[in-house]
Amino acid sequence: MSLLRRGFRTWCENAAHGYRRELGLEPFARLDPRLLASNLSVKIWTPRDVPGLPLASLRQLTKTDPSSWSAVTICVADKSLIIVNDQDLPERQNNSLAHEISHIVLGHKAAKVFVSPTGQMLLSEYDRVQEEEANCLSGTLLVPRDALLNLLSLGQDHARVAAHFAVTKDVLQMRINLTGVGKQLANRRR
Ligand SMILES: [Zn+2]
Repeated sequence: MSLLRRGFRTWCENAAHGYRRELGLEPFARLDPRLLASNLSVKIWTPRDVPGLPLASLRQLTKTDPSSWSAVTICVADKSLIIVNDQDLPERQNNSLAHEISHIVLGHKAAKVFVSPTGQMLLSEYDRVQEEEANCLSGTLLVPRDALLNLLSLGQDHARVAAHFAVTKDVLQMRINLTGVGKQLANRRR
């Protein structure tokens, strides 16, 4: 069962449109989350950019176990900062970044906060509703419904549409299912 409140998906579609307009992009264009982050004054770092990160932690994050994490949002003195795993494929990074940006845009307050040993950094953990909202907004920002419908109606295959939006095939498939675009196209073909 969805935990999303009524009208939330529509709100996300409008946000996806609004941000494209703000960034001077066409309605059906790819949205680069890095561009959006910079527009929102959100900094994006890689583990190497973190000052004072112990070498052992850096090695753990980038070499030993790079698949164990994708991105985290950190609040330093009221400013949001996303640390992204730059060992991930670009499409996966886009998804991680859009997800973290969504938490920030939605003003989510972390359910749990971890303070780093130096006491300067706060790592956040969100509750389930917030996770579902962030997933919904990030998927919509990357792949708006009408843009998806438009490209698929033109007969473009999934690989090409995923490449257009610079998302993974999983994200594309999730959007095709969630938006009902898949069903809509199947009905049209009948
Ligand atoms: Zn999250």
